[in-house]
Amino acid sequence: MRWSPGEGVFWRPAPQADGFTTLDRELTADVVILGTGPGGAAAARTLANLGASVILLEEGPPEARFRPNQGAAMRYHMQEGGAMVASGATFMPIAAGRGVGGGTLINSAIAWRCPDPVLAGWAETLGDIRYSADNLRPVYDELWEYLGIWETRREVSGENNDLVVRGVKALGYDGGYLSRYTPNCVGCGTCYYGCPSGGKASTNHNFLVEACANGARILADTKVEDFLLSGNRVLGVVGRSYHPDTRAEGGKVTVRAGKVIVACGGVGTPRLLKRSSLDLGPAVGVGLHVHPGNAVFGVCEHEVNWWQGATQGAYFHPPALPGVLPHTSSLPPEVALLSLGAQGIAAPDAMELIPHLTGLLVMISDHSSGRVDAWSDGRAKLTYDFSMEDIERIKAGMVHAARVLFAGGAKWAFCPVAGVGRFEDAEALEARLKDKVIQDFTLYASHPMSSCRMGTHPETSVIRPDGRAHRIEGLYLADSSIFPTSLGVNPSITTMAMSMVIAKGVAGV
Ligand SMILES: Cc1cc2nc3c(=O)[nH]c(=O)nc-3n(C[C@H](O)[C@H](O)[C@H](O)COP(=O)(O)OP(=O)(O)OC[C@H]3O[C@@H](n4cnc5c(N)ncnc54)[C@H](O)[C@@H]3O)c2cc1C
Ligand code: SF4
Repeated sequence: MRWSPGEGVFWRPAPQADGFTTLDRELTADVVILGTGPGGAAAARTLANLGASVILLEEGPPEARFRPNQGAAMRYHMQEGGAMVASGATFMPIAAGRGVGGGTLINSAIAWRCPDPVLAGWAETLGDIRYSADNLRPVYDELWEYLGIWETRREVSGENNDLVVRGVKALGYDGGYLSRYTPNCVGCGTCYYGCPSGGKASTNHNFLVEACANGARILADTKVEDFLLSGNRVLGVVGRSYHPDTRAEGGKVTVRAGKVIVACGGVGTPRLLKRSSLDLGPAVGVGLHVHPGNAVFGVCEHEVNWWQGATQGAYFHPPALPGVLPHTSSLPPEVALLSLGAQGIAAPDAMELIPHLTGLLVMISDHSSGRVDAWSDGRAKLTYDFSMEDIERIKAGMVHAARVLFAGGAKWAFCPVAGVGRFEDAEALEARLKDKVIQDFTLYASHPMSSCRMGTHPETSVIRPDGRAHRIEGLYLADSSIFPTSLGVNPSITTMAMSMVIAKGVAGV
């Protein structure tokens, strides 16, 4: 199963997934996998290809419900309706995807290999080299080919990305067009809503199709709520079907399986484990990283129309700022209108401004961390303690981002930091950011991870380096919650790679 440009995507079927039902269901499988994002889908394909009988359970809807508006994306394709917020010294929205395809349904499909120094650090702390750069290289190579990953093509990059690349080149910075798993992207700029053309290689167009072709079964609209246990051995899971529109309760689902792989994501996995009857020790939910970020928006004389072109297609590495990764930002028009309103720009002025906007999101590999707990109604209770050092790194990244936008053609700029206002050069931004504290920033994060870490000690980690839970037999984790540290690059491809390695171990290969 291989993709190349222009081939195959439009006719490729989505996997057959069962949806809402009022019937109670009792099923058995060799392996039950919870979640169908990068972690769950990659594990399912590996295991089904190796001959295991696999059932996947997914809380979100069976097929992508693309609508060109933020409300539909939040309702159907974002966990907890897009309303997850981490509290602490300031509040920070945390986004995570939902549905058959998980986060890949609504992400920008930016593809990175995990940086070598990060993997070297993991090998040292884990005392295990299975995720070393050398060992993961062939896995990444396979993913590059399988998903059709290559640099954003000029035909679909759009002025928003082109402007950033112009700025990066003019300044001599290290950067350019981003690699993405979007082999048939037509540059419609709506990745956050879902991909209407099928140009994005979200997991529902590849891993899950292949897993189902090899016998896997997907039950969607199905939320897992607890585990079946005998002593300290897991025997399966129980959950319930929920109507995707009304959220009405449907039938109960019981899946008996000798092996259970939890892949509900950086928030979803600890949220479920905390509410369940499993005792996995004190490390569940601890050490959450999120790659927090802020943005800089430039205003050009010419029209940029940032909704035309790849949603996020350019990046750069700011000099001497390791772990700070600015990449193009574009907001859907209605979100842009709200954001400009929050900056004190009246709607009629904002409407005129929006076609001229360009932007860079400044994301950092966080040294700060947070925690995932669960409220009694099952929602995630998220806290995050920001270190001032991380805020200083965001500020420094924003100054470089402003330089790039001005060098690319922006005439003035602004940013969502209270009291900064309009500025015409990066030095003015630097001066105004100097005294700003965390409460002045409007932060955002969409990479929850490291909340059920892999490690060697059951007091400080949840799973062993091979993915097996320290304290419960038959239970594995294989998603973004398992990273021993923050990655510093967009995490979905590394989630797939690690999940493939873990799934082979589950199959005994
Ligand atoms: C807006 C946005 C943009 C992003 N852009 C990029 C990008 O460009 N590149 C990149 O690499 N990363 C990006 N990310 C992050 C990336 O998508 C995630 O890191 C990745 O999807 C995580 O994979 P996962 O398998 O850990 O979990 P997820 O993809 O979150 O999948 C978990 C699945 O589990 C399901 N689930 C949760 N709880 C339960 C339950 N109790 N029972 C059953 N099912 C459950 C969820 O519905 C979900 O489908 C972005 C994320 C967002 C939200
Ligand atoms: S820009 Fe449009 S066509 Fe390209 S991957 Fe995103 S949603 Fe799909």
